[in-house]
Amino acid sequence: MNPQLEQPRPASAAPARVLVFDTTLRDGEQAPGCSMTRAQKLRIAQVLQDLGVDIIEAGFPAASDADADAVHAVARAARGMRVCALARCQEGDIVAAARALQPAAAARIHLFLATSPIHRQHKLRMDKAQVLNTAVRAVRRAAELCDEVEFSAEDALRTEPEFLIEVFGAVIAAGARTINVPDTVGYTTPAEIGALFERLRREVPGIGHAVLSTHCHDDLGMGVANSLAALEAGARQVECTINGIGERAGNAALEEVVMALRTRADRFGLTTGIDSKRLYAASRALSATIGLEVARNKAVVGDNAFAHEAGIHQHGVLAHRETYEIMRAEDVGFPHTRLVLGRHSGRHALRERIAELHLDCDEAHFEQAFSAFKTLAERKREVLDADVEALVLGTPVHASGPWTLAALHVGTYVGGASIASLHLRHADGREARETATGSGPVHAVTAALVRASGLSLEILELRVRSIGIGAGAQGEAVVRVQHDAQELQGRAASTDIVEAAARAMLEVVNRIARTESATPSFHSCNGTPHHDHEARPVSVA
Ligand code: MN
Repeated sequence: MNPQLEQPRPASAAPARVLVFDTTLRDGEQAPGCSMTRAQKLRIAQVLQDLGVDIIEAGFPAASDADADAVHAVARAARGMRVCALARCQEGDIVAAARALQPAAAARIHLFLATSPIHRQHKLRMDKAQVLNTAVRAVRRAAELCDEVEFSAEDALRTEPEFLIEVFGAVIAAGARTINVPDTVGYTTPAEIGALFERLRREVPGIGHAVLSTHCHDDLGMGVANSLAALEAGARQVECTINGIGERAGNAALEEVVMALRTRADRFGLTTGIDSKRLYAASRALSATIGLEVARNKAVVGDNAFAHEAGIHQHGVLAHRETYEIMRAEDVGFPHTRLVLGRHSGRHALRERIAELHLDCDEAHFEQAFSAFKTLAERKREVLDADVEALVLGTPVHASGPWTLAALHVGTYVGGASIASLHLRHADGREARETATGSGPVHAVTAALVRASGLSLEILELRVRSIGIGAGAQGEAVVRVQHDAQELQGRAASTDIVEAAARAMLEVVNRIARTESATPSFHSCNGTPHHDHEARPVSVA
């Protein structure tokens, strides 16, 4: 029997299994500042698979061709996890979802339709009977094209419970096997959602044939608490995201739900298939990919989550760890050695550290990371875990170039502008020099690079932050740039923050140079033409 169909048991019995449904690539990705390219989505899908999620919601194929393509790519690559695609209750959406999921070994179509009065009246302009009929027809159609169908009653927590019971009974009869009860707007409370799930388990006809699922948003800071209350009341699937990214204030954070179930197994009597030792690495991989850091005091994965500062706490932990610690840092894969490598460390030491940090790094990528490590170790006495992370996550997976930074000079004048001069060299021997002023050194250097590139680039966001601590700590720069209709991201780390900004910007320019048929027309100072006339075929990075 499918473990997901088990009913909740008393805590004294063997723990029941909760399915973890990750929607980082769908609900998460749709949040501002969290959009990902196809390659980035594939990388995160790999992280989620290694983490042990049961179902990955890879996207919303009807939303765009790019989304459909990304779902298709994840469906082809996934092993051992079910791949899910979102669809409205419309023929076109259902067909697009089924087509994108076609290569998946295990697939699911996730249908949604709003059921609350406010959505029925103002968004759908449908009455109850129309909503019911639309849902049933869509579930039947999806069940013809896919062997698993999930149905979500959008804004369920503001829907009349009697109507919710009627809709759920009808869609189960039509073939839905997962019934999701989303708190779309983050409105409910733990006691309220718990009572609703108990009622649904008692009153929805045929509920024994379906898995009840919870999907909570964090608008009032209760996303995780509400998800846990639903699980206590019989939900056996939880929808969540890494770092809690998602629409508005975000979704329930996967790492918090998983560690609450694990740490309080005495109370919940529930388990998941998640390898908790990979939670920290998954959190950092997502942060690095989208350039969105978690707060230092974030539960489970924040930098301070296991730091004891107050003397009385330190004393207690040293005397007996459990006085102030309910989880061990190693349970979530938190790096415990702070001092790791130096300039005498070799390939083997770096490789071992990368493996211990659960960082994803293939051979070609490793060689690039190793050479970056050697450069860093010459400049910095102690290479910390955070540096290793930045090296691996910040090293472009694909070959860098064709442009390299040959020289950079920056001057800052108190009360005045900053001026940056740079010198770039192309793999084919061309050179470019440019000077620009700016309101600060980072501004000046990015302005010089934009001008040198001759490209129309709009900087949407530029962030710098320090990695690690102490003299010689590295700085990391992340830049988001708009070029034509495309949004590109560059990232680089260096002990010099201005150089990091220059290299992050140069990465963007190089990505454009590598993917466009003609290289960007760098202004040249040595008489070579601005345009590369050997047009190359467009390649997809
Ligand atoms: Mn949502």
